[in-house]
Amino acid sequence: MRSEELFERARRCMPGGVSSPVRAYGAVGGVPRFVERGEGAYIFDVDGNRYIDYVLSYGPLILGHAHPAVLKALTEVLPKGTSFGAPTELEVELAETIKAAFPFVELVRFVNSGTEATMTAVRLARARTGRELILKFEGCYHGHADPFLVRAGSGGLTFNIPSSPGVPKGTTECTISVPYNDRGAVEEVFGRCGEDIAAVVVEPVAGNMGVVLPQEGFLEGLRSTTKEHGALLIFDEVITGFRVEFGGISTRYNIEPDIITLGKVIGGGLPVGALCGREEVMGLLAPQGKVYQAGTLSGNPLAMKAGLATLEVLRKEMPYRMLRSRTEELAEGMRGAFGRKGIPCVVNYDTGMFSIFFTERERVLNLEDVRTSSAELYSKVFHALLGEGVMLAPSPYESAFLSTAHDGEVVERTVEALEGALRHI
Ligand SMILES: *Cc1c(COP(=O)(O)O)cnc(C)c1O
Repeated sequence: MRSEELFERARRCMPGGVSSPVRAYGAVGGVPRFVERGEGAYIFDVDGNRYIDYVLSYGPLILGHAHPAVLKALTEVLPKGTSFGAPTELEVELAETIKAAFPFVELVRFVNSGTEATMTAVRLARARTGRELILKFEGCYHGHADPFLVRAGSGGLTFNIPSSPGVPKGTTECTISVPYNDRGAVEEVFGRCGEDIAAVVVEPVAGNMGVVLPQEGFLEGLRSTTKEHGALLIFDEVITGFRVEFGGISTRYNIEPDIITLGKVIGGGLPVGALCGREEVMGLLAPQGKVYQAGTLSGNPLAMKAGLATLEVLRKEMPYRMLRSRTEELAEGMRGAFGRKGIPCVVNYDTGMFSIFFTERERVLNLEDVRTSSAELYSKVFHALLGEGVMLAPSPYESAFLSTAHDGEVVERTVEALEGALRHI
């Protein structure tokens, strides 16, 4: 197996053989498939196997792999050069597109990753309020910056690292973590130290402990509590931005956070992140204000162009209802297949994202519920599906994603593959 050979080589020159931890298959065992190429809903490994891909680069590829419009756009700008360290029209166009989708947004700052976006959002919130504490939710992931590595989701959960070595105590002491969907806990913390809290940061639909939906009133409650205590509300829409709506969860529920962070979809598969909001907050960023943030490759023309091409297709096609009904079909198909096999499970989903929890619980609303899910069964299902040509994320805590290339036939084939896979379990 070429993947095996490459993984051997990789481990000799890269920590764990990968550039990001979950990719190493540590949570499910086995050898990671080295990828050769992608096309639409499919990904091909270096051994010539084809898989229906539900990883989709962990969220960016809402149009599927190698979408012709994105490739064409990149081919247009590529010969002009790859980076200038100077402003371009493409940045302005992408910022305008984001503003048009989020009506209250006035200014947008581009960075190179979601991590940078949330990191900067926190700096901005601290500068704006003159306070230091951050309130976050257990199981939510906001990138790998120090203040967020407290009970974080994604790789942090997969490897059971409650916080990471190398993060100074002083940093994590400023982060308070409470259960997702727990308004009482939020009220309690604000009652105790509300005047010291700079911001509440939340994934408005959680996607890094699997998909966990906000209960009715949860997000509205965060908005009113933060407002009452003079703290900022940061919606981390790095996954949900332009995935669940043309806009995000904030526009769906008409809630106005003070800062929204974006990434993934807005880069169309190239490295990008952004933070945005009203001028009274965003205007504090240098050079308009005094809060420092910079980036050699920020606003990179290739990333801007891929993002623009992606958002243009989305705006023209508005595929969200279709994407939602496909996700629902798949979720129902999976529930049915597991049900017939007598395997208790909860399938949570929002538009274009879902996850399966192997739990006896009726609902999965927070990290404690997530933790009742069997990681062992997930590994078995993961490998059995891989054998049937379907690729899920190699961790029970990562969401699965659908693209517009995942049509009815692909979804049907996935459910058939699952039924085949379950015969071996
Ligand atoms: C992926 C993700 C991030 C981090 O983005 P990177 O580009 O990986 O740095 C932050 N927040 C959320 C909600 C994410 O899903």
